[in-house]
Amino acid sequence: MSLNHIRPWRNIYRRKSRQIMVGSVPVGGDAPITVQTMTNTLTTDVAATLDQIQRSADAGADIVRVSVPDEASAKALKEIVRESPVPIVADIHFHYRRGIEAAEAGAACLRINPGNIGSKQRVREVIQAARDNGCSMRIGVNAGSLERHLLEKYGEPCPDAMVESGLEHIRILQDNDFHEFKISCKASDVFMAAAAYQQLADATDAPIHLGITEAGGLTSGTIKSAIGMGNLLWMGIGDTIRVSLSADPVEEVKVGYEILKSLGLRHRGVNIISCPSCARQGFDVIKTVETLERRLEHIKTPMSLSIIGCVVNGPGEALMTDVGFTGGGSGAGMVYLAGKQSHKMSNDQMIEHIVEEVEKKAAQLDAQPASATQAAE
Ligand code: SF4
Repeated sequence: MSLNHIRPWRNIYRRKSRQIMVGSVPVGGDAPITVQTMTNTLTTDVAATLDQIQRSADAGADIVRVSVPDEASAKALKEIVRESPVPIVADIHFHYRRGIEAAEAGAACLRINPGNIGSKQRVREVIQAARDNGCSMRIGVNAGSLERHLLEKYGEPCPDAMVESGLEHIRILQDNDFHEFKISCKASDVFMAAAAYQQLADATDAPIHLGITEAGGLTSGTIKSAIGMGNLLWMGIGDTIRVSLSADPVEEVKVGYEILKSLGLRHRGVNIISCPSCARQGFDVIKTVETLERRLEHIKTPMSLSIIGCVVNGPGEALMTDVGFTGGGSGAGMVYLAGKQSHKMSNDQMIEHIVEEVEKKAAQLDAQPASATQAAE
């Protein structure tokens, strides 16, 4: 249960945005901040794409984006949408026909910039297809592909140019009386993206899709995303997020969740609190945490586990976690349940034992009425 009323320094006041639907998933308003990723398989390879979508959904993805670069991909999309466990966003660039085909194929949302698809008539046709098929849209401004007239006006990509681009695309949709859209303004430069998102947050009430684009590999991209998106989320900006990594989409989902988890904005699975370890450790903390992360991947219930090397910080951390283990002497440590010292356990049986205790606690939390746990979401 959330204790933020007695810990006001943990509160984040979310920007008030209006809510849209991406298929069955609400985005914006008071809906939970959703986590997205994007497939990197050939869309025409339906089996491989669905496999990636399924793995991403298992890791917690609420929404998955799929590229639709050609007509064959739009055809494949129909099958993908039918089998997918989560709503699919079709990624469209320039070609308005792909947008219409994707909407007809059942995409829940089109990622498309209406200013880039040509004549007013074409824009109208895409909007009509979206409307007819219950499909929302995402305007995706990217510092790397700003319109020429804005680059000429501003001299180089900058937050003002990005926001102006976004507002121009918004106007086109509004002029066509289409309001089911969200918007992103991504840049690989953290400062530029953060400044652009802050301006955008003031300029529109549309739900905001956050992202630091082309952030890099798993480690560097995670850090960049956590700094950029973390700051914005902390300010209350962002209704849905995508971490862009040169890595498996499943990693993007995991990192996205970790960012939300560290800000208390979303909870899923076991939040492991562990010490870095040092000469005082009563067991191998690093190896244990690595193993437990793997062994506890299947737990979706929000809960916490502390794995601490010794009594310097162990009992204190265990006070605030559902299950805890603190290293001691003679090859054994102490197990804590619900913050209280419970029983001793030998190091060599500890992993199996902790997995059992966590599974037991998860089952117990799952059995509680929703009202007791929903505060955590
Ligand atoms: S909790 Fe103990 S083992 Fe872990 S880093 Fe601190 S002093 Fe070292």
